[in-house]
Formats: sequence, C-alpha cells, structure tokens
Amino acid sequence: MSVQFFIVPLVAVALTQVAVIATSVYLHRGLAHQALRVHPIAGVVFRTVLWLTTGQRRRGWVAVHRKHHAFTDREGDPHSPRVLGFWRVQVLNVYYYVREARNGETIRRFAPDVIEDRGDRLLFSWGWGGLSVGMVLLCLVLGFWPGVIAGVGHALLYVFVLAPSINGPGHWRGTQNFENTAYNSAWRAWITGGESLHNNHHAHPRAPQFSARFGEFDPSWLLIRGLVAAGLVTIGGSAAKARVDMRRRVAGESDETLAAPALAGARSEDLVEG
Ligand SMILES: [Zn+2]
Ligand SMILES: [Zn+2]
Repeated sequence: MSVQFFIVPLVAVALTQVAVIATSVYLHRGLAHQALRVHPIAGVVFRTVLWLTTGQRRRGWVAVHRKHHAFTDREGDPHSPRVLGFWRVQVLNVYYYVREARNGETIRRFAPDVIEDRGDRLLFSWGWGGLSVGMVLLCLVLGFWPGVIAGVGHALLYVFVLAPSINGPGHWRGTQNFENTAYNSAWRAWITGGESLHNNHHAHPRAPQFSARFGEFDPSWLLIRGLVAAGLVTIGGSAAKARVDMRRRVAGESDETLAAPALAGARSEDLVEG
C-alpha cells in the first residue's frame, strides 16, 4: 500500500501531462487550427485518451478556442483576463469554458467543419461516462483509494492549474517575440505541452510548432515529430510555411526574405530536422 501511495502523485502528474499534450496536439493544433492532419487511427487514440482523462467534446473545444482567436482580449473572448480579470479566469476558467461550449450559436459559427460522427454519438459525447470509466480503470490498477486520489488530483491539476495557466497568465505577463496581447513563458511551456509559448502561437496560429527560438522548448513538438516519422501525422504546405515564417521572423530575417518564392514549396519533410 505504501508503494502505491508513493506513486499516486506521480500518476496524477503523468495523467495531466498526457491530457495536456493530447489537447495541444489533437484538439488545438490538429482540429482547431488544422496545422496537422491526424491519421484516423491516431485520431481514435487521441479521442479515447481525451475522453478518459478530460471528458472534453472536440466540437465544443474547437468552437470555444476559435472564438478566442477571433475576439482575442476584447468583448466576445470567452476567457480573457484583460476583459474578465486575472483571478476570475485563473479560478473560474472551467466555468467560462463550459458556458461558451454550451452556446449553440458559438458551435454553429466556429466549428461547422467538426462533424459529430458515430464515435461521438455512441461514446465520446458522453464526457462524464469517459471520466467514470477512467476512474474505474485507475481504481482497478492502483486500488480504490489510491485510484480515487490520483484521479481527483489529476482533475484538480488539469482544471485549476494547467488549463487556466494558458488562458490566464498567457494573456497577462511574460515575454514576447511578436506584437500581440499574448505572452510566452519558457518554463511553463515545459509543463503545458508547449502551450505557454502563447505569444508565438497567436502570431502564427497555423504553425504546428510553438517554440520559435533557442531556449524555448515545445514538448508536444517532440511527439508530433515522432508521429510524422510514423506516418500518423502529416503537415501541409501552408502549415509548414507558417512554421518557417515564424522562426525566420524571430531570427530577424526581413519580410523580403520571407516572401522568397522558394518558401512557397515548403513541405512537411522540410520541418522534421528541427
Ligand atoms: Zn490565447
Ligand atoms: Zn490557438
């Protein structure tokens, strides 16, 4: 029993990391910004992982996030600390998310391309069902109380620490490579699957990689490179170009250089080197 309790916090942290990276790669970069095309097999794995660890519905997530980009830090932004106040977003992030995700108009306007398929109707729409199955699996593996504590610990970390740290501090304080209202935090990026390189992301939303310079690390990009190598993710020409543009702008190369015709043909293979 003592061994199990020793690993309980590790399991909670590991689950949160899995959930954060799956959210970043599949929901955010894949569906919301179409910076990646995810193979259907990998898609089912991501959806299952997100169902078990977060219960999030992909259509709602995509719609709320695209609305955030459309109205960033002004009236209409679902979770702006500049509009709502820093602590409101930090503490009530999940409330603001759920409220917007239940807005039918938001769903229709911002996620018309994300169709509810048979998988959604039979399984993935049942968010609480996924969380319950996830909790039962944890209890089967760890034992009842260690499983419950690991599951609740993960939920608290995800809902009240990591997810709000992207929406709150990410639009409040930090460093900037580009002129917009979002900020980077190099150290938080290590624990948020790269999401805290938020200033880079708002400048180039189609770029599949969020780190743009030396000293910035995007953990999700490592997974994406592995999935590209395995043929489970592809990166189209415009997304690959967005990535190259972002990194060249940070490196200080001029707009004329960026407009060079050679870049128009940037392919997904071009980006795997790093
Ligand atoms: Zn943002
Ligand atoms: Zn985004």
